[in-house]
Amino acid sequence: MVKRTQRIGLGIVLLGVLVIILVFANINKPEAKSLNYFIAQTEQGKIEKIIINGNNFIVKDFDGYEFIIRTIEALPYSEQKALMAKGIIVEHRLEPIWQKYLPYLLLLLALAVLGMYLLRFLKRSPINRNSPNEFAKSKAKAIQQEHSNISFEDVAGIEEAKADLQELVEFLKNPNKYKLLGARAPRGILMIGPPGSGKTHLAKAVAGEAAVPFYSISGSDFVELYVGVGAARVRDLFLTAKKNSPCIIFIDEIDAVGKKRSNSIHASNDEREQTLNALLVEMDGFESNSQVIIMAATNRPDVLDSALLRPGRFDRQITVDTPDIKGREAILHIHAQNKLLSNEVDLHTIAKRTAGFVGADLENLLNEAALVAARANHIEISTADIDEAADRIVMGPAKHSRIISQKERRITAYHEAGHALAAYYLEYSDPIHKITIVPRGQAGGFVMRVANEDRIYATRKMLLDNIAVALAGRVTEELIFNDVTTGAQNDFQQATDIARKMVTSWGMSDALGSIMLASSNSIYDSKSYSENTAELIDSEIRRILTQQYNRVSELISTNSQKLETIVQALFERETLNAVEFETLMIGKSLKPLTIKTAKNTPAIKAKPVAQLRITRPATLAN
Ligand code: ADP
Ligand code: MG
Ligand code: ZN
Repeated sequence: MVKRTQRIGLGIVLLGVLVIILVFANINKPEAKSLNYFIAQTEQGKIEKIIINGNNFIVKDFDGYEFIIRTIEALPYSEQKALMAKGIIVEHRLEPIWQKYLPYLLLLLALAVLGMYLLRFLKRSPINRNSPNEFAKSKAKAIQQEHSNISFEDVAGIEEAKADLQELVEFLKNPNKYKLLGARAPRGILMIGPPGSGKTHLAKAVAGEAAVPFYSISGSDFVELYVGVGAARVRDLFLTAKKNSPCIIFIDEIDAVGKKRSNSIHASNDEREQTLNALLVEMDGFESNSQVIIMAATNRPDVLDSALLRPGRFDRQITVDTPDIKGREAILHIHAQNKLLSNEVDLHTIAKRTAGFVGADLENLLNEAALVAARANHIEISTADIDEAADRIVMGPAKHSRIISQKERRITAYHEAGHALAAYYLEYSDPIHKITIVPRGQAGGFVMRVANEDRIYATRKMLLDNIAVALAGRVTEELIFNDVTTGAQNDFQQATDIARKMVTSWGMSDALGSIMLASSNSIYDSKSYSENTAELIDSEIRRILTQQYNRVSELISTNSQKLETIVQALFERETLNAVEFETLMIGKSLKPLTIKTAKNTPAIKAKPVAQLRITRPATLAN
């Protein structure tokens, strides 16, 4: 009982403090005057400066007298300029947030304290004691429900992913159309991409576009200290979702729970595996007509348990890539909307300078720039402010985002252009699908080729051409820079693998003839051939590689004009698709870059699925 009176006492003290602060907040303020008074004073040239602070501004006249004008809206920028033209100093001051909100904060605190005591009191009551559901209750907090008001217009630079998801929106909006045709809902969609590229943002946009509830939970929320909690949370999440269908479940960082199951009997793994199993069971347990769509995000698809990726589970994968220059400009446009940028700022130039930045980095960049500008009392954000912000981000403690230097971009551009040129001129190489110098993972860029038709066999000519294409990146570096980089490791691996198989497995070497020399599990088998043959194999492999190296070297040097054209284009656009590449190769020039800004982007239409998905295996050279 004594304790209780103490608590009540505390509450009263808190309230007292609150009242005192509220009173103080209203003293010491300059006198309020009308707008007309201000205008009159301005006409008479009495005003020295104004300090804008949200919807109010404080006016100082030459006599040192201060008064405050309260307006309904912030003073428009044009008005500010007009005042400045009259020689009045216009300053901006961001009122420290705490000053404005302190009273409310304190009130909230007081309420929270009160609420906590109440809750504790309730918990003590015998009804709730030892409730078996104690854990299950706490899990409800981990699940976030929201009605997202983000739309596709707020997402830019990842157009392919957006187009892929458009179909999903259609399904959620108009399920009957699909049901009549007997189509099953896509169940699990896995979004793969580096941190900050907009996976969560995109999932929310899908919910927003389709106007359905969005239940999100993070993979790490599933994994708790207590065995069984994670699994219970999964069940609860799915139960809630089913009750509220159609809706979207979003599991962020699914790799935290969906790692490959091991055989170890480690206790900490036990909990995760139970959770994962519960997830698998729940995903299977959906009736085919339920309209609950599960989206998940990860930046580490390689560690996921294969059971998660089976048909009927996360069988659709959407890559959310690092944006290219066009994408970056579009993202900058979105986040510049609520910033006061100076007219002189050119977002295209900013996009050029921020190679390697993802959406979150770009948002952060503009925000930092605004802070820099505010600190320096600028009335708008200038290019210099943005530059300073970029420096801060790159130098700063969170160094995960790196701006790629012009020198590195140049080398990558030549390297990838070399691959592309070889693929174009060599008769048996698959045609180019995409060339990019936007980094992905360890690779600085890549060239993707996709076959025109399905095939079962590879011919010898094809294999030789593929070796040549793989070597072309390094060859070009050597020709242009007279020096080579470490960037070609993967290429060599590929080329050597093909050459080795040609010699040892496919009987394609003249010197060795049609003989199978590699055993399928060669690690355990002792070699079935002599030292002599081993030497012969090595020299054959080397011969093939050298021949192709020389062949492609000649090809690149005779077409160095084209090489420059491609490099130029890559430098400007960072990504070239098949059509753009072809256009350049036949000597035409590309249409100027136009970017979609939030204003002029028409709502994107669902593209026919067949057009979007690459069904044939693609070859990557990076
Ligand atoms: P991820 O989930 O991939 O780590 P988020 O979706 O959480 O990244 O992105 C963080 C923030 O960065 C978003 O809230 C959004 O404001 C901004 N952002 C990221 N990507 C984009 C994009 N493509 N377009 C617009 N804004 C983006
Ligand atoms: Mg995220
Ligand atoms: Zn390469």
